[in-house]
Amino acid sequence: MEQWMSDLRNSVTKGSTISQDYGVDGAEIDEVCAEYPMRIPRYYYDLIREQGDPIWMQSVPSIQELHDEAAEEDPLHEDEDSPVPRLTHRYPDRVLLLVTDRCPMYCRFCTRKRMVGRAGGISEKTIALGIEYIRSHPEVRDVLLSGGDPLMLSDRRLEHIISSLRAIPSVEIVRIGTRTPCVLPSRITDDLCNMLRKYHPIFLNTHFNHPREITPASRAACERLANAGIPLGCQTVLMKGVNDNPATMKELMHKLLLMRVRPYYLYQADLTRGTNHFRTRVEIGLDIIRALRGHTTGFAVPQFAIDAPGGGGKVPLLPEYVQTIGEDEVVMRNFEGREYRYPQVDGAAEGGENEARVINF
Ligand SMILES: *Cc1c(COP(=O)(O)O)cnc(C)c1O
Ligand code: SF4
Repeated sequence: MEQWMSDLRNSVTKGSTISQDYGVDGAEIDEVCAEYPMRIPRYYYDLIREQGDPIWMQSVPSIQELHDEAAEEDPLHEDEDSPVPRLTHRYPDRVLLLVTDRCPMYCRFCTRKRMVGRAGGISEKTIALGIEYIRSHPEVRDVLLSGGDPLMLSDRRLEHIISSLRAIPSVEIVRIGTRTPCVLPSRITDDLCNMLRKYHPIFLNTHFNHPREITPASRAACERLANAGIPLGCQTVLMKGVNDNPATMKELMHKLLLMRVRPYYLYQADLTRGTNHFRTRVEIGLDIIRALRGHTTGFAVPQFAIDAPGGGGKVPLLPEYVQTIGEDEVVMRNFEGREYRYPQVDGAAEGGENEARVINF
């Protein structure tokens, strides 16, 4: 058995373990696990310093998960927007393909809490149907493999999926969304990297939420992927009590760049049932972006976005830098809050098309 597989087997899955280590109510944890499973790789569990810290909050079940009946199970309507099972085709030229419902860790805030670790898995036949859909829709040039976590599949099964996609001429890029570099870094083996690099262009978005998740092990995992020529991005979720302040976020973004991971999205928490206790007000995210933009490296600033409830897709949010776009000038504020003016060209003479574009948006 590969090292990462035995690491995964050694994960914390029972309330009694946490109860012994921290004196909390293990039965209560198990009660939550009966609804939403728990799995915490030992590596990640060992990053906890104390009960309730940002590592704990992301990994250890809270009874609050069961007291959130109002929210929806699938607020993004991913299942409704599925032409074939486990494939979501929401944007014109790209699709989301779920290839497994297993994860190295069952994150407490997960948007796909309705399915991860609960259902009966995703069969090879379902995946084959998804690939067939992509083959018959040549407008799809970008395929996102997600789950669950695609790197829970063996190298062999993953290679089968990626090589089938590569055999479709209209598929330009393949992206993998995975939390393994953060929670199970031993999964990023040389064999995996050597397999992936055969199918370039492959992009990989990983998922770190707190600077304490960046360790020598997770850094080595990201560097192995980067050395295989895979551009790395990070999707971070904004969460109350975990990372909802500018100082923590800035430290996280800087540490990501140190391991050649470029911040990509910062997501406002979704309305998924069982995760409401992580939600923040939207102003908190805007304040964080305001504290980053201009104050640090431009590419250390992720795009803040809300995935619109009801399946509207990702809507980018920006602090109000533009005050007015007038006929004659644009009035704006810079990162220090100072006001500046930019004169417009004559709209009637040559800017007609641009003007129309702004209005039509
Ligand atoms: C996020 C997402 C994508 C990819 O969006 P990008 O902005 O290109 O990263 C595609 N499909 C679905 C359903 C998504 O949720
Ligand atoms: S690894 Fe991703 S899909 Fe799996 S539980 Fe965590 S956030 Fe959800």
